[in-house]
Amino acid sequence: MRGAVLYGPRDVRLEERAAPKIIEPTDAIIRLPATCVCGSDLWDYRGIDPVAQPTPMGHEYCGIVEEVGRAVTTIKRGQFVIGSFFASDNTCPNCQAGYQSSCQHRELVGGAQARMLRVPLADGTLVATPDLPSDELIPSLLTLSDVMGTGWFAAEAASVKPGMTVAVVGDGAVGLLGVLSARQMGAERIVAMSRHEPRQKLAREFGATDIVTERGDGGVARIKELTNGIGADAVLECVGTHESMMQAIRSARPGASVGYVGVPHGVELDAHELFFAHVRLHGGPAPVRRFLPELIDLVWNREINPGKVFDLTLPLENVAEGYRAMDERRAIKTLLRP
Ligand SMILES: [Zn+2]
Repeated sequence: MRGAVLYGPRDVRLEERAAPKIIEPTDAIIRLPATCVCGSDLWDYRGIDPVAQPTPMGHEYCGIVEEVGRAVTTIKRGQFVIGSFFASDNTCPNCQAGYQSSCQHRELVGGAQARMLRVPLADGTLVATPDLPSDELIPSLLTLSDVMGTGWFAAEAASVKPGMTVAVVGDGAVGLLGVLSARQMGAERIVAMSRHEPRQKLAREFGATDIVTERGDGGVARIKELTNGIGADAVLECVGTHESMMQAIRSARPGASVGYVGVPHGVELDAHELFFAHVRLHGGPAPVRRFLPELIDLVWNREINPGKVFDLTLPLENVAEGYRAMDERRAIKTLLRP
């Protein structure tokens, strides 16, 4: 089986790997009709989080169950399933509380940029669609595995409610889907912070009412201008840099929540500033599993079309170009066909 392997900075190769096998009786093996590159893969690709050894890449997946271990009871061969980048048992106290990405038995799923994938804890992790999806639904279903679930969590963690003014920091796939999520949750005004025209256009399609191109303190000043000097009712932070985190916190009105889902890199918070900001912070790795049933329904009923974030489709053979295009911001998100 061929799969993507990262060797070092900007060196991703497609190479022959052993096909995954059932290791634990709770595993499932799924066949992937499509896979993709995540913005968070770029941290490794750029050498910001360097890999210690050649590492199979990819953690977003959906596909057809080929085989299940003997302890798997609810997931069946032939079903079309979606799961999160963290496998979870969905039964421990953290899972029961809706934080499956903090499952006591969580396991990172990796190596999904390939034709086949092993998913641990299949019964807890995977959610089946009502039927086999048509081909045109697959990109949207694939986003639920990470970027859409993460954008949704950002909006949920920011307590977006009907009528609110929401600011979204970050115009990657997660930020754009954060816009879509805020719209779905009834936000009245959604300010997308982006200086990149194709992304601004997609943000508007997803429901953004305003675009702010300034960054840092300039971006904060624009949000204040748009809100009579008060700040946004909810802010989604979808980048993970110090600048974007501060921009998010300072754009929030007193009493607002900031949902932060960008993996922090170099973020340092000043407790004194936070104390006087009167802002709630909630975020972390999205508990995607919690949202899968609801999001599958929305995609299945054509109420949302998050698959629009894929603006580049390549055969898996061209995975290196898929990474390059995202690294150079020529593509928002690359879909790969194994
Ligand atoms: Zn659990």
